[in-house]
Amino acid sequence: MDTSALTGLDQRIAECRACPRLVTWREEVARTKRAAFADWTYWGRPVPGFGPPDARLLIVGLAPAAHGGNRTGRMFTGDRSGDVLYQALYDVGLASQPTAVSADDGLELSGVRITSPVHCAPPANKPTPEERNTCRPWLVRELGLLRPTLRAVVVLGAFGWQAALPAFSEAGWRVPRPRPAFTHGARVTLDATDGQGGRDGQDGREGQGGQDAQDGLDGLDGLDGLTVFGCYHVSQRNTFTGRLTPAMLREVLTTAARTAGLPAENVVPRGPHGG
Ligand code: SF4
Repeated sequence: MDTSALTGLDQRIAECRACPRLVTWREEVARTKRAAFADWTYWGRPVPGFGPPDARLLIVGLAPAAHGGNRTGRMFTGDRSGDVLYQALYDVGLASQPTAVSADDGLELSGVRITSPVHCAPPANKPTPEERNTCRPWLVRELGLLRPTLRAVVVLGAFGWQAALPAFSEAGWRVPRPRPAFTHGARVTLDATDGQGGRDGQDGREGQGGQDAQDGLDGLDGLDGLTVFGCYHVSQRNTFTGRLTPAMLREVLTTAARTAGLPAENVVPRGPHGG
């Protein structure tokens, strides 16, 4: 566990201004606000990962929501997608409470961390490929710091999948070629490459965190394997239509958590989230 290094990384991410379009957008949204949040002081900056530095399970989303993470400063906090995700994490025993409304609401995660391949809210929830590539070294660095304990990852949606696989490769895990396709329920185990992943490649070095990413891999030997799970994104489009139900989400989270060695329980709760 490297608490100070991860805290330092989070602080540097929060100061990043590498993507001009996203900097303009996140700050404009923070200035104009949504009427319902008029009395909020929006975060308006990159949103770092959330969760303990000794996480065994990582959840990778897409990017912060304009009036969610970009408002509260914490991953998936303050929007409908987060409502679904945190309820499920609570249901399976990985979160201390089922709601996430602000960065100081007391929520704690157990053994799981949440991050995204793009740390700034993008217009229409769509980062460009260039923005995705520019942000990737931050994810590589985060993976490098989590590596001692990290054993499984749940990737939410196809965008996150496409963004995360190269990061896994650069962080020292062997990703099959051709790359595995995203599906809900996909499960891929990546072998370690003994800390040499990405060192002889050029992918991602051009990004903001490039040198940091390489620094985070220094001295890595005997990496453990990583099991990667695909899950439909917890977007309103998916959850409102029933494409992703709470039961489906709990199933993936429970399987991934147990694979990572966490004591998750898939107990169907009573009430509206039991479906
Ligand atoms: S590299 Fe990431 S954190 Fe930096 S501005 Fe781009 S999206 Fe935001």
